[in-house]
Amino acid sequence: MAESCLFCRIASGEIPARIAFQDETVVAFHDLNPQAPTHVLIVPRQHVASVDAMGPEHGQLLGAMVGAARRIAREVGAHESGYRLVVNHGPAAGQSVGHVHMHVLAGRKLDWPPG
Ligand code: AMP
Ligand code: ZN
Repeated sequence: MAESCLFCRIASGEIPARIAFQDETVVAFHDLNPQAPTHVLIVPRQHVASVDAMGPEHGQLLGAMVGAARRIAREVGAHESGYRLVVNHGPAAGQSVGHVHMHVLAGRKLDWPPG
């Protein structure tokens, strides 16, 4: 755990969040500033700074993140209507927290291309 990292502190329970799902590998919680009726963030318990720092050694972790996303999509009934997974890396994409996180967006029509 990186002591100053917001999402490590949420994953450990030190900072409260509205948890949607958790297991031994990932924690999913509702975004504080939701951009869709369902907007959940999925983070690994392990501190990884960005998707750009991930490689084959993170395969199991990435699988767990996608698995959690699919589970949440089913819980909100979006697996057939559709949902979007977003992972931002770096300033141009607007990454604002240095702990990799996958956004799960669902519950409305999601325009393309994104902003
Ligand atoms: P990104 O811009 O991809 O780095 O996404 C970071 C997301 O974290 C934003 O959508 C924020 O609204 C969200 N966020 C920041 N702090 C918290 C928090 N304490 N609890 C829940 N979501 C948060
Ligand atoms: Zn962290």
